Amino acid sequence: MAHIKLENIVKRFGDVVAVKDFNLEIEDKEFVVFLGPSGCGKTTTLRLIAGLENPEEGDIFIDGQRVNDLSPADRDIAFVFQFYALYPHLSVYDNIAFPLKAVKVSKSEIDTQVKRVAEILQISNMLDRKPNVLSGGEMQRVALGRAMVRQPKVYLLDEPMANLDTKIRVDTRAEIKRLQHEIGATTIFVTHDQVEAMSLADRIAVIHQGLLQQIGTPHEVYNKPESLFVAGFMGMPTMNLLGAELASQEGESVLRLSHTDVHLRLSPERQARISSVSQENGLVFGIRPEHITAANQPNGQSISAHLHLVEPLGPVNILDIRLGTHPETQEPILLRVRTHPTFQGAIGDTIWLDFSEEEMHLFDRETEQAVW
Ligand code: ATP
Repeated sequence: MAHIKLENIVKRFGDVVAVKDFNLEIEDKEFVVFLGPSGCGKTTTLRLIAGLENPEEGDIFIDGQRVNDLSPADRDIAFVFQFYALYPHLSVYDNIAFPLKAVKVSKSEIDTQVKRVAEILQISNMLDRKPNVLSGGEMQRVALGRAMVRQPKVYLLDEPMANLDTKIRVDTRAEIKRLQHEIGATTIFVTHDQVEAMSLADRIAVIHQGLLQQIGTPHEVYNKPESLFVAGFMGMPTMNLLGAELASQEGESVLRLSHTDVHLRLSPERQARISSVSQENGLVFGIRPEHITAANQPNGQSISAHLHLVEPLGPVNILDIRLGTHPETQEPILLRVRTHPTFQGAIGDTIWLDFSEEEMHLFDRETEQAVW
């Protein structure tokens, strides 16, 4: 349907730079999710693509055609907003038919299209109803239907499920993913919910303070974060991020977690990568809670520490493990570990840890970029 390219896009509102030198290519039929905290520039980027805002700098291309000067109506894009507005006096049928009536499509063609879309969205039995008797999820599907009936080149969905309750949200999420696959339309979906992003996207664009931090598959963004921001944003509980420095142990170069006794051996390749970073910048070590193994016995595990807290969450236990104490603040230096729910341990117990070497991350504190 459509290939989208954003080239060096800049958008300012007075002193606020909402979008900063944004570069992104979205393939035909791709489902891309814009993910980031509130105010990071997701909606503004979407509105720029739709033509509802104009960039101060840069170019927007749809299927190779520069569209900066095209009006929203000429861009062949359907936009579903967070707060869907249905016409209360019109039936579901007429709400969905509305965009086709506006461009004077024949009655029989409108009928075919409305029924086709209603069937896909499983709302055929409610075409005669007015919006005020529909549930939130049903209204959402009508709003989606009104966008789908046009068969545009591109769908832009701005937090379309934000005001649905959790159960309907999960159901609608599955529906949207299935629909997008069926229709095969290029889709950009905005959310600040990482689970929603992971479950829907072919690729996730993580945005922070108007900057594109990383674009990649859910697997890449979760497992190979390119910056401290992405590492800390993705994951529940979040990645452990601890200060670290290079040290020497028995003549060998190791990574020491600051203010702890934890020393990690490094492969020659990893040592070489650290050497390329200015030591003055400082380092931040990262590891996800599920990439640490905890045991009650020193089964070859190299690190011993005390259990600070146990949180049994049902399918997993989350352990807070105390590695040391910050000398200035006296705050405990904690590591979160995810274990099987059968893991036995009480506050104060000594336990042994093993870090999965392949899953260790390191960031330059100054540039916030990944070292490895
Ligand atoms: P949210 O998830 O809360 O919707 P967002 O990531 O979509 O946030 P934007 O709505 O794109 O963020 O806003 C980006 C920045 O631009 C924010 O600082 C916002 O206050 C600012 N901004 C957006 N629209 C305008 C406007 N019309 N006038 C002034 N500032 C604006």
